[in-house]
Amino acid sequence: MLDSYNRKINYLRISVTDRCNLRCRYCMPEEGISKLEHDKILSLEDIVRLVKVGAGIGIRKIRLTGGEPLIRSHITQLIASIRKIPAIDDIAITTNGVLFCGMAEELKAAGLDRANFSLDTMVAEKFEFITRRNHRTGVKRAIFKALDLGLEPVKINTVVIKGFNDDELLDFAKLAYDFPLHIRFIEFMPIGDVLFWNRDRIISSEEIREKIARRYELAPTKISKGSGPAVYFKLAGGRGTIGFITPMSHKFCSECNRLRLTAEGKLRGCLYDKREIDLKAALEHKSDDEELKKLFIQAISLKPSEHHMNEGWGKDNLRKMSQIGG
Ligand code: SAM
Ligand code: SF4
Repeated sequence: MLDSYNRKINYLRISVTDRCNLRCRYCMPEEGISKLEHDKILSLEDIVRLVKVGAGIGIRKIRLTGGEPLIRSHITQLIASIRKIPAIDDIAITTNGVLFCGMAEELKAAGLDRANFSLDTMVAEKFEFITRRNHRTGVKRAIFKALDLGLEPVKINTVVIKGFNDDELLDFAKLAYDFPLHIRFIEFMPIGDVLFWNRDRIISSEEIREKIARRYELAPTKISKGSGPAVYFKLAGGRGTIGFITPMSHKFCSECNRLRLTAEGKLRGCLYDKREIDLKAALEHKSDDEELKKLFIQAISLKPSEHHMNEGWGKDNLRKMSQIGG
């Protein structure tokens, strides 16, 4: 399915919950978050049905995210059901990793292809500061567990924040040198808890690359699955890669292939566009698959040519990242 700007839309990111077991400062406030009641979020059956409809208009890749997807009950059952949809050829998850080790085997057996883990710092005190929780060792173990299970490529999302973790860039690069891990440095976006966000805290990918290139020889590369918007570099002699996701300094909107489904069942064409199609309401009104298909097509037609994050600087977005699905 092509959108109005000739982009092929084949990727659906699904937020399975708005809840989380961490409280990353840039994503969620510590308190005062109104959690969605159970009947306000899509049931697992609804999600599977919507994936089937999406598959009918060309969706091939699914990513489960949140909030923290691993706290959603019966997440493995959801993965197993999606795995049975023949058109879907890739199922991935983005997780903070805290619960991963205890569930890893069953996630893989259910049909999970690969996992991305979020880790912004390797220093215990800083981890506790940024997430307001103390689960760092669990996350580290999770990353190596995913490698052991061959849930590859194993990617790590690291939001780079000036004054917080820019002193660890070489430590992350070393991780990619020593292990077959793909570290993706993400530019800090004005979404989420915008009180923590600040324009001066963004570090451009050029700056990061220059810093790392002083220690490691870098060569552009691609990775086997799910390259998405990241631009990757191999470290000479190393086992993994580093990558850059630059929504702020270098928009990659012209290659955008995704739709986003929020936990409440709203279908969005863009992380930063408030226009949404209410699929939950349509399900409640007993819409048939053809009607749902039309709503998918409508969401695709609403996809803007590019985001305008740099213009509103965070003031325009009503939902937090944990609510949209990061
Ligand atoms: N809880 C899961 C996790 O942390 O991996 C999945 C949801 S989380 C919202 C998805 C990703 O969005 C994480 O890698 C997180 O670091 C990133 N993220 C959240 N807020 C962000 C922001 N303001 N700028 C850049 N990335 C952000
Ligand atoms: Fe939770 Fe992920 Fe947001 Fe952190 S970034 S608070 S782990 S949803």
